[in-house]
Amino acid sequence: MTQEWDAGRLDSDLGGVGFDTLAVRAGQQRTPEGEHGEPLFFTSSYVFRTAADAAARFGGEVPGNVYSRYTNPTVRMFEERIAALEGAEQAVATASGMSAILAMVMSLCSSGDHVLVSRSVFGSTISLFEKYLKRFGVQVDYPPLADLDGWRAAFKPNTRLAFVESPSNPLAELVDIAALAEITHAHGALLAVDNCFCTPALQQPLKLGADIVIHSATKYIDGQGRCLGGVVAGRAAQMAEVVGFLRTAGPTLSPFNAWVFLKGLETLRVRMRAHSESALELAQWLEGQPGVERVYYSGLASHPQHELAKRQQKAFGAVVSFEVAGGKAGAWAVIDATRMISITTNLGDTKTTIAHPATTSHGRLSQQDRERAGIHDNLIRVAVGLEDIDDIKADLALGLAALRTV
Ligand SMILES: *Cc1c(COP(=O)(O)O)cnc(C)c1O
Repeated sequence: MTQEWDAGRLDSDLGGVGFDTLAVRAGQQRTPEGEHGEPLFFTSSYVFRTAADAAARFGGEVPGNVYSRYTNPTVRMFEERIAALEGAEQAVATASGMSAILAMVMSLCSSGDHVLVSRSVFGSTISLFEKYLKRFGVQVDYPPLADLDGWRAAFKPNTRLAFVESPSNPLAELVDIAALAEITHAHGALLAVDNCFCTPALQQPLKLGADIVIHSATKYIDGQGRCLGGVVAGRAAQMAEVVGFLRTAGPTLSPFNAWVFLKGLETLRVRMRAHSESALELAQWLEGQPGVERVYYSGLASHPQHELAKRQQKAFGAVVSFEVAGGKAGAWAVIDATRMISITTNLGDTKTTIAHPATTSHGRLSQQDRERAGIHDNLIRVAVGLEDIDDIKADLALGLAALRTV
């Protein structure tokens, strides 16, 4: 039995509404069942009315679903919602954050092209470029993220793409995205920003002039540590290339994961605000603790780019990193003496996590590359979750007390 429902109330017709309204409602397509929640379409293929209909849909002459490698209504709802939040013409969902980066490069770059990647990006991103993409003739250089003169000097006539993470993991370095977009465009290249740490709730790179936004949806878009996924978002012309790659190569997001991410987006800004509030309180507290030598958090007045962070972001995010006395042994002792905080390299979870970047996320880099990226052996990264901040502090106090016995 199908219910009648008012087509005039389609959530996909939203216009002029605020961020939180888009986060809750954008992209939803109701079926004739009139369901209130987003439907989950578990199907690998779709039926056609006739052979001619199949031919027309395969050829793209008639819109409609063909095969879930590249057309699935639940995935499309997620793509439309995240596009609305980022202010993008189109978003393409992928199986993971890494496959989003791969899909972007494979669809927009060719052998002989030059790519600039900020020095302090996610460890696997560096491996992707260094170990794999270089083998296919993509040239790569790594300017320091914050240094605009370094960027200016690094462009070549064949530079096709500049790719940055701002803020960076784990040191919370920033680049002035608007200024870098101008430099990049003056060289005829595209600027892509990995917006994983801020999410569109705190920063909208396309509105600052970037051309492409990348997400690991695995992190704050999910927000509860359940599913892997990724997003590439930007202008329709470039996204058509990304869709072509996805259709052909298949790093496709599962509809189940898309459904989880749709639910995650509904609470995105509330969560990001709570994460950021607790992280700021923790960073301020850490600065006063014995045994803590340096705290990296852009919400601190001591952060060299604090003013830029205030201008460019709505808040400072959840990730706080700090260096402790006693080198690697000290860092490991602090981590091991915590009782509640999870020892895991993931982030973007309601549960607070703690990790030692030098031997985990950045462990595959050479000592020299690690030092160049500023990842010292005494560095600890905490991704602040949504537990009571007093309990997070108490647990880290247990950790820091262990420094006295190292
Ligand atoms: C985790 C992460 C990625 C990779 O995402 P996956 O979903 O794990 O593949 C890329 N960029 C940043 C900044 C990340 O934190």
